[in-house]
Amino acid sequence: MSTTKYIFVTGGVSSSLGKGIIAASLAKLLQARGYRVTIQKLDPYINVDPGTLNPYEHGECYVTDDGAETDLDLGHYERFLNVNTSQANNVTTGRIYQSVIEKERRGEFLGKTVQVVPHITNEIKERIQHLGNTGEYDIVITEIGGTVGDIESLPYIESVRQLRWELGDDNALVIHLTLVPYLSAAGELKTKPTQHSVKTLMESGIKADILVCRTEHDLSDDLRRKLALFCNVKREAVIQSIDASTIYDVPNMMLEEGLDTVTLQKLGMENKNEPDLTRWNQFLKRHKNPKGTVKIGLIGKYVELQDSYKSILESFIHAGAENEVSVEVKYIHSEYINKNNAAEKLGDLDAVLVAPGFGERGIEGKVEAVQYARENKLPFLGICLGMQMAVIEYSRNVLGIADANSSEMDPQTANPVINLMEDQKNITDMGGTMRLGSWKCEVKPNSIIARVYNQQTIEERHRHRYEYNNKYKEQLEKAGMVATGINPDTQLVEVVEVPEHPWFVGVQYHPEYKSTVASPHPLFVDFVRAAHEHAVTK
Ligand code: GLN
Repeated sequence: MSTTKYIFVTGGVSSSLGKGIIAASLAKLLQARGYRVTIQKLDPYINVDPGTLNPYEHGECYVTDDGAETDLDLGHYERFLNVNTSQANNVTTGRIYQSVIEKERRGEFLGKTVQVVPHITNEIKERIQHLGNTGEYDIVITEIGGTVGDIESLPYIESVRQLRWELGDDNALVIHLTLVPYLSAAGELKTKPTQHSVKTLMESGIKADILVCRTEHDLSDDLRRKLALFCNVKREAVIQSIDASTIYDVPNMMLEEGLDTVTLQKLGMENKNEPDLTRWNQFLKRHKNPKGTVKIGLIGKYVELQDSYKSILESFIHAGAENEVSVEVKYIHSEYINKNNAAEKLGDLDAVLVAPGFGERGIEGKVEAVQYARENKLPFLGICLGMQMAVIEYSRNVLGIADANSSEMDPQTANPVINLMEDQKNITDMGGTMRLGSWKCEVKPNSIIARVYNQQTIEERHRHRYEYNNKYKEQLEKAGMVATGINPDTQLVEVVEVPEHPWFVGVQYHPEYKSTVASPHPLFVDFVRAAHEHAVTK
């Protein structure tokens, strides 16, 4: 029998309470005590994965090494734990139903009526235990998306109830995250919404073992006792989660509240070793005591919603701490940049990052931003679409190919310097069909990336359909834009640089997915260093 312990994290009262951060913080503390931990997210929507979702819906789509397009919470899990996740760490209702329906079509249910209980719930339970059954983890934390009481979460809640019954109290526990609102007119914190949401959970047969209460003000001892009594949990299992100035403070706050010790006690696990957070706290110290500031422009078309660029923003935090500077990110909407206002919008920056993206909206503004950064010798990093825009800008303004474009934006262009990849040409489905996940890249010597990675072969994560068109490579290289990173198997250009510029790098891949607290991404670290150098010398 598996000895893996299971922790379920549910949410009540309101969405956006930060279940992902609580799950990641608890995992961090357990990991820091020497346990092997992973985190999984179950999402109640019907999309098979978030890859087809507009970033305005749920923020960024995070990509794992194995090419899964996942919820952005998986990014937090990796950044906190420095352990890779995979497709198994993110399951949606769409994926569950797809798999059950495929089994039904194959006749695997032997003539039975296929129902939510037991077929859908069995599939969910299998997906939850899949990670535990690998034997790689002592503890699996499963975060249930949505809010208790939602119609669409019901099969997940029922699966948790059954699993807990099957695994026994020592092997599984439920943490319920709720909100304790402060009513300013009454000058009081209110526990009633929490009581109601715990009751809703009970109606589904689940008793919360631990309450984590989001609050703007400290919970008094009286209030904690009241919550414990009315919600049926021990006094020490009422944990306060007060608003933090940075998500990276949450593990220490949970340590102080004893979330990890109550968890281990409940699961009958040894409270071995004090958590070793040395590396984490060194990072926090540097993050909170910057010796300078750099201002970096983030040029994108989804800038209204910061979650759209979550991993990029977090990578700047890691790289800033590494350089002991604070990175001030200025969001600049690419749709509103043009020739006339580029200097006004970008003139105060120390560096420019042109973001990933899809479709035509805002791309001419991205090209303008590249030109401004190139001509004014501002450090420039182009990621995915940002790299493609750099190639277009160079082709138009340096090579003089005025109509150079990407066939994504203009399928009829006579000069597709960015073109649809050969193996994408016959694909009609949108979901899960891009070039995804980790691919190898050979690094050319004497380049920025050779210095930064200090490796001959690197592996980075991808998510794209279009590519650098090798027909233009000779011309581009002669004119000063060099391909410094190449996929050894397909010859696909993954990195371009302009050696006569102080720091100009475009990458077809997404370095932001691999930056963690314990291992800040070297490309971001050097980009921020270059921005700082620019700031102090200008
Ligand atoms: N739209 C571009 C492509 O599909 C870039 C994708 C991206 O930026 N992730 O190639």
